[in-house]
Amino acid sequence: MNRQSQFSYDCNACGRCCRDKVITLAPYDVLKIARAAGVSTGEAVRRFTLRRGSILKFGADGACVALAGTRCAIHDGRPLACRLYPLGVERDSASHGERFVMLEPVPGSLGVYGGDGTVGGFLEAQDADEHLEANDRYRGLIRRMRVRVADLIDFEKIEPREFWRRATREALAESAYDPNPLIDALFDPDGLVGHRDDDEAEMFVHIAALAVKIGKTTEPDMLAAAAVMLAVSLGYSPAEAIGI
Ligand code: SF4
Repeated sequence: MNRQSQFSYDCNACGRCCRDKVITLAPYDVLKIARAAGVSTGEAVRRFTLRRGSILKFGADGACVALAGTRCAIHDGRPLACRLYPLGVERDSASHGERFVMLEPVPGSLGVYGGDGTVGGFLEAQDADEHLEANDRYRGLIRRMRVRVADLIDFEKIEPREFWRRATREALAESAYDPNPLIDALFDPDGLVGHRDDDEAEMFVHIAALAVKIGKTTEPDMLAAAAVMLAVSLGYSPAEAIGI
């Protein structure tokens, strides 16, 4: 589906879709969650996420930690995946293209699907483009990290596939991962640049500060894991970080 495709969906706030999911978070998602919850981004990472900020946390009962009864307690700052639901977006790194897919309805959900609107209209109503545009801006950092890795490592001596395989394993580990200040900085803009009242302004300052931090990082393993983590958090495959 593209933005012109016929689609509509009425959410009836039954809360069933907010259970038993794996929802990937981008840095901008964490910033918006923090603002909606009235906490710092560091506190939002601790309270609402797993895997260092990159996955939304669900409790032992299967419910999202932001679910209050059948309502989202951080509705104004809900992540992109929740805004898009029941659509998903697939991003093509080569063409910068996007494709929307309809996700499997949750059994018992009171949401009503229809065709009296368009995907574009639905995205607009959900304020999804703010997140999609922010994610596009963060994307430039992936290439920057990859170039920095290439500056620091001699791939004539280190086998590149094994190097990137290790980085991918490290980025996607849900526990027992190595400390990585670059990944921490990705998901904690307040910690890197300080809280700004304007989310968009903070995003721009955050990206600029991350670019500087990347330039100063001398550990290729750290850079590579952060590149994979950022790629996956923005909805790309790890191959986006590797540049293939
Ligand atoms: S963040 Fe809100 S909308 Fe998204 S899964 Fe959690 S409760 Fe549901």
